[in-house]
Amino acid sequence: MRHVLRVSVGDTLRVGVLHGKRHTGVVAVCSDQEIILTVMEQEKPLPRKLPITLCVALPRPQTYKKVVYDATVLGVSELVFFHSRKVEKSYWHSPVLGEEKTGKLLRDALSQAGDTVPPRISTYPRFRPFAEDVLPRLLKGKEGFLFHPRDTVHTLSPSQIPVLYMVGPEGGFTDFEYELLGNADLLGVSLGERILRVEQAVATILGYSLIKFA
Ligand code: SAM
Repeated sequence: MRHVLRVSVGDTLRVGVLHGKRHTGVVAVCSDQEIILTVMEQEKPLPRKLPITLCVALPRPQTYKKVVYDATVLGVSELVFFHSRKVEKSYWHSPVLGEEKTGKLLRDALSQAGDTVPPRISTYPRFRPFAEDVLPRLLKGKEGFLFHPRDTVHTLSPSQIPVLYMVGPEGGFTDFEYELLGNADLLGVSLGERILRVEQAVATILGYSLIKFA
């Protein structure tokens, strides 16, 4: 409030309670020691979520932060991180995955978007149980798309919502993984012949979806 918004007494702000309601706040006191807001009773509706489950092979910690932040600001409903052969095992032990660091990321992103409800986040540190047991369950009632640079014929044109998007690891899926995913009901989608970084692929897919669904 002090450094970014540079508030002073009488200014109005959007305020929200995590997992709760959104209101208007008025700055009542603003000194070096404290800022006191008077919160108006009247509620403001929360921004709508995008009907998207985004599944991403766990990327390196810096990229994980970008994906969680961007997906939250853009309003993704559910985020799923899963293991894949080319995901470094050490990524699963990174402190960024912990509640404290991920919680801060989520709060920052929600503040940016004026939202109070974070996406559901789940993690699956083993590929096969994820692909064989979890993915079919996640896909129920959704249209699923697998983003892969090669061997794909479909373009992204969801005919129904909600949707599930799958983005692979930085090193790509192995043939075995690609085959196993092929058994799930996912349509392959190419974003063109340029290979995008994970965060670029995610931003592109979500940007398109924001225009289409919001
Ligand atoms: N060497 C890997 C390969 O050829 O599959 C590149 C992986 S890319 C850095 C990481 C992920 O972003 C991919 O698994 C895919 O899900 C997505 N991606 C990147 N570029 C893409 C493109 N042009 N079309 C579709 N998906 C793409």
